[in-house]
Amino acid sequence: MIPFNSPPIVGSELDYMQQAMGSGKLCGDGGFTRRCQQWFEKNFHSPKVLLTPSCTASLEMAAILLNIQAGDEVIMPSYTFVSTANAFVLRGAHIVFVDIRPDTMNMDETLIEAAITDKTRAIVAVHYAGVACEMDVIMQLAEKHHLYVVEDAAQGVMSTYKGRALGTIGHIGCFSFHETKNYTAGGEGGATLINDPALVERAEIIREKGTNRSQFFRGQVDKYTWRDIGSSYLMSDLQAAYLWAQLQVAQEINQHRLGLWKQYQRALQPLQDGGYLLLPTLAPHCTHNGHMFYIRLPNVETRDALISYMKEAEILTVFHYIPLHSSPAGQNFGRFCGQDIYTSQESSRLVRLPLFYNMSDVMQKTVITTLLSFFA
Ligand SMILES: *Cc1c(COP(=O)(O)O)cnc(C)c1O
Repeated sequence: MIPFNSPPIVGSELDYMQQAMGSGKLCGDGGFTRRCQQWFEKNFHSPKVLLTPSCTASLEMAAILLNIQAGDEVIMPSYTFVSTANAFVLRGAHIVFVDIRPDTMNMDETLIEAAITDKTRAIVAVHYAGVACEMDVIMQLAEKHHLYVVEDAAQGVMSTYKGRALGTIGHIGCFSFHETKNYTAGGEGGATLINDPALVERAEIIREKGTNRSQFFRGQVDKYTWRDIGSSYLMSDLQAAYLWAQLQVAQEINQHRLGLWKQYQRALQPLQDGGYLLLPTLAPHCTHNGHMFYIRLPNVETRDALISYMKEAEILTVFHYIPLHSSPAGQNFGRFCGQDIYTSQESSRLVRLPLFYNMSDVMQKTVITTLLSFFA
């Protein structure tokens, strides 16, 4: 059986986890957490990076940090994971969905302005498959209308837009280290990137159960107290140790994934030329991280037939994101602005192929051969 995903393992995870166990401190903000955070701050150029239990938690932190209140509106694509919306709905926000671009499956930046109202507070840019949204346009719109921008860069760790790391362009960025993502913190994990220095102090307080404990540990105050609303958004240092092992070889993981990605692209190009399927599109000003290889079939019937055919051959391929606006909660908590021209249509004909760090060449050849035989 060829799985759709297998969690990345590089070999040194246990060593670092053992070091964490020997350090006498396993809770959040230990030595490995600090190392990981500094690694991101230095390599990606973000003023403050905070490890969290998940990207879901990071998005929730972002919504609290931006003071999202009942009745506020937040703009995002409908083609995304539930957490992108849930985090803001938990604060009482109403979600305004806009259509995606058919080339990248990202929110169509030219449709955002029409979705802005007096109640709009934030725009959430989701970088699908680790390929950037048009951030210059989004940031200009946000500035013009005094809105915040949150990047859901769950899939975008190590990708860039015009040379800048995804997650560092909006006021706040959110990463995921879930086992299905490029780097994992032992199955679950995330990070919040605070790119607007004015938000840093309160971000630390929200993450520490609403207390100024972080300042206390730095010796900036002599006792810590309850200051604000908050929750526990820290990652265990044992998980940070797992993540640290992966960051040590971040480039290798990235190169390996890009190699697998290009291999799929080369092998499937003739099928695109023959009009059987559509391959992903990349823009020259963006670099990606090989997070995902997806193909689009002519219609949902062919897509489902392909998934069944691959399953018969013991290869797991998956589709994803039932558009949020068509789900019961999406209808309750949001509305679609404008026309759904691409979201439903493109998502229904998309399928993702197995692609993970520990995937062997033999496995990938099997996937490719089976795919080619389906079309033959
Ligand atoms: C995976 C993912 C999330 C959620 O990440 P978790 O770390 O599992 O909470 C959010 N948004 C997008 C776009 C994702 O792909």
